[in-house]
Formats: sequence, C-alpha cells, structure tokens
Amino acid sequence: MPSASHRVTVIPGDGVGPEVVRAGVRVIEAAGVKIDWEEAAAGASVFQTGDTSGVPAETRHSIERTKVVLKGPLETPVGFGEKSANVTLRKLFETYANVRPARELPGVPTRYAGEGVDMVIVRENVEDLYAGIEHMVTPDVGQCLKVISRKGSEKVIRYAFELARREGRQKVTAATKANIMKMTEGLFKAVFEELASEYPEIKAEHLIIDNVAHQLAKQPNQFDIIVTTNLNGDIISDLASGLVGGLGFASSGNYGDSVAIFEAVHGSAPKYAGKDVINPTALILSSGMMLRHLGESAAADRVEDAVLVTLEEGTATTQDLVRQTGGDIDTAASTTGFTDAVIANLGRGPATLKARRSAPGGPVPTPLPAWSYGPERYAAIERRTVGLDIFIETGEEPGRLGPDLEGVAAGGPFELHFIESRGTKVYPSVGLSADGVRLLRARFLTRDGGPALDGDLLALQARVAARQPGWTHIEKLHVFNGADGFTKAQGE
Ligand code: NAP
Repeated sequence: MPSASHRVTVIPGDGVGPEVVRAGVRVIEAAGVKIDWEEAAAGASVFQTGDTSGVPAETRHSIERTKVVLKGPLETPVGFGEKSANVTLRKLFETYANVRPARELPGVPTRYAGEGVDMVIVRENVEDLYAGIEHMVTPDVGQCLKVISRKGSEKVIRYAFELARREGRQKVTAATKANIMKMTEGLFKAVFEELASEYPEIKAEHLIIDNVAHQLAKQPNQFDIIVTTNLNGDIISDLASGLVGGLGFASSGNYGDSVAIFEAVHGSAPKYAGKDVINPTALILSSGMMLRHLGESAAADRVEDAVLVTLEEGTATTQDLVRQTGGDIDTAASTTGFTDAVIANLGRGPATLKARRSAPGGPVPTPLPAWSYGPERYAAIERRTVGLDIFIETGEEPGRLGPDLEGVAAGGPFELHFIESRGTKVYPSVGLSADGVRLLRARFLTRDGGPALDGDLLALQARVAARQPGWTHIEKLHVFNGADGFTKAQGE
C-alpha cells in the first residue's frame, strides 16, 4: 500500500553525490513511499557563486518547510577560508545527534565477520571543539575553545537512551576524556550519570575514550550504543565503520528538535564522480533511516532487507567490494546495476542476517522530553567569583614576571596564585620552564577566598594591562555550589 505523501528536501551534492542520491531516491520510490522532493543546492557549486556559507537561502527555506533532508556529500574547498557546508547545515538546524549504525553485513568481508558486531554511535553534533571558536592568540599560538553545555549533553544523551529503549538495546556506554578535561568532558559524564537513573532497564557504563578505541579494535561486539562528545565521536564512528566494511556501507542520520538530515558518511570521492562505479549502499541505508524517521517503518524494513539480500547473494557486487575480495574488477556491478538489484530484491528477506526491526515504540520522538534543568534549578546555584586568569603575550622569564605581577596585586584584594605555560605551572618555580612559548597565564585569586567585586576585578585587569600591554584575554574564575569552576595548573 503506497503511503501518504511526504515532503523532503533533496540535496544531490558534489562529486559522486548525485549518483548515490539518485540510487536512494529510486529505492525509496520503488519501496512505494510517495515523496514530494524539493531539490536544493549546497556545497561546491554554491561556493563558486561567491556564497561563502555554501548553503543558500532557498535551500535553508526549503529545509524549514520540509524538515527532512536527504543529501549527498558536499565538498569543503581547501584554502579558501570557507566553513564546511556540512557543518553549517548541521549547526543551522541544530541537529544535535549524529547517529551512525555499525552492523556486520552479509557478504562484506571484515576481520570481525561472524562476531555479531551491531552497535550505534551517537555523537554530539553541534558543540565541543566543532563550535569553531578559534583564535590566534599571539602570532604563533593558536587556541580552540571546547564548549560543552549541560543542555547540549542532556539532549544527545537522552537521545541515546531513548534510542536504546526503542531498539530494545541493553547497554549505553558513555565515552569521554573526563579524566583529563574535567569541566567539559567531565560535565558530559556527570549528565550521563544523572540521566542513567531515568532508564533503569538499560545498563549504563562509562569508559575513557582511548580505552573505547582499544576495546573497539579488540572486541567490538561488546558495544551496543556508544554516546560521546563531538570530536571523540567523529573519530570512533569512523573506526566503527571500518569494522564493518568501510565508507561504502556507513549510513547516518543527524537528528534535531525539528529537522533531520540523512546522508552517507563518505565524502564526494571526486575521482569516481560521473563514472557510475561508486557503492551506493551507504546512501540507500541512510534512506532507510529516513523512512523510519518519516514513520514509514514497513518500507524501511523492506529497503534494509533488500540491501541485505543483495549483499548476501553477491549477484551485484560493486568495485570496492570486488577489490576487497580479490575478484575480477570487470565483473563488478555499476552504481546503477547494484541499485537495480536492490530494487529487484524489495520484498525478499535475507537468509543469514536479519535486519533490525523498528521497535514498537517507533522512531525516537522529536523534540525529546523537556529539558530537566529548568530555570529554578539554575537560579538555586550558589555562585561566587573568586578571581581572574589573565593571559599575557610575553617573552619575559616567569622568574621576572612573577615578582612584577605580585607587585601589581600588592595591597589589593587579590594575590598572584601562579603563572603557567600551556597548563603547566612555571612560577613560583617548580623547576619547569615555559620553553620559550610567548603566552603565559597569570592566576589571581582573592586573598581570603571570598567573593570578588567586579570593580576590583576590572581594576586589577587595568593595572596588569598597564604593566603588560601584551595581555590577550581574561577569564573570570567562579565557584559554583562550593566547587571550583576552574582547574588547577599541572604541577600546582
Ligand atoms: P571520500 O570522498 O569519502 O573518499 C575517500 C575514499 O573512500 C575514496 O577515494 C574511496 O576509496 C572510498 N569511498 C568513499 N565513498 C565510497 C563509496 N561510496 N564506495 C566505495 N568507496 C568509497 O573522502 P575525501 O576524499 O577525504 O573527501 C572528498 C571531499 O568530500 C572533500 O571535499 C571532503 O571535505 C568531502 N566530504 C564530505 C562529507 C559529507 O558531505 N558528509 C564527508 C566527508 C568528506 P578508494 O580510493 O580506496 O577507492
């Protein structure tokens, strides 16, 4: 039975994009789902018109109307200073959860074949180092701000638990570097631990991200759902794709409160553009994820089953797979040929590996349950400002700068607590040097640990600036509910 019609923005994209997107569209239509496609542009062709966002207003308007996007890969020009149009799209529509299944596929040889790898990586998609807040603080020191919010963390972690519930999965693993980055990765871990209690039927565990990489290589079938911050997720989701066959097979969905974007993980693979040889499986599986999101779970099952049958029987095998198996490249199926085979297999089910059926709960609801950290909870936090970090571009030896800054603070409410270089204390001396790097941070704290007045903080800043014109920026130091909102320096 054909379903009711949906509206979807389709972005063919760059390089091999139009070929794989065409494959996805054909399979969706053959599966009996009616879609009014709104074709829109983004990526290289848009950058070439001088639009430095890579995402023109008409495309944004189309997505605002349809709320669902099927897209091909977009090229990020190197060396023009443009931001990635992909990242722009994800951020513009706050698609906070990047969801990448990594599941063993029949007929796709890997080192782990037969071990039952079947996991989903849920990656925070908006925050972290990908906020793109970078500065050259001095001519030779760059800095990138890692922004992690309680709300951003809660949204993606809740998404992961809801996905586990809806797919009947047993375990969610949070992967962080909380042992090193206590204020950012540590916040993500703390929110995970708070939310886990709301999902008592699901096992919640936390592992340090480097151990997750190790465990993924050693025994990947121990994982069910992994939820993690943006950069960690970027790396381990590619690792997970590699475990089950690589880029030709890796599908993804980017989910926000109102918009969802579905795409293959791979890029535009320019050397294959227009040759009809690229593997469209990743985009076809992403199309299946989109159908699930649209509530077309029966059609999604049919699409996934048809892909599995096609891979299992090996009657149409694309070049990438033929190369992996050492076969004759001349026998490889074209992109179109593989897609024809998938369409011909619609309605059939695989013999060896069953597709994951959509859970009775349907797709994860959007938006998710309201944010639990309301204004009352926020307002109840006891806070105190206790000092200032001042960053200074200087070639001066810490042994000389220290007494100078102590002199600046003398007689006032603050005292110099330390000077550090790239996080390591160099004054008062612990025997370490700044190694000639011309950026130091001086920390001033109130003498009695009591609250600092803004006027006193600004006066201190002005006095330091008068002595050190190379000051670059400042950071206020807070204590929230009795806990320091700042980390110690190494060696402090
Ligand atoms: P890529 O386009 O993913 O291609 C790298 C290699 O991966 C290809 O040369 C090919 O390997 C293999 N590959 C990729 N897709 C495949 C498929 N469907 N079937 C079989 N093999 C496939 O990565 P890139 O060359 O680093 O990036 C090219 C452009 O794409 C860049 O401008 C980048 O910014 C952009 N990009 C966009 C997205 C996105 O839109 N989401 C994602 C990643 C990259 P072999 O050479 O071994 O055959």
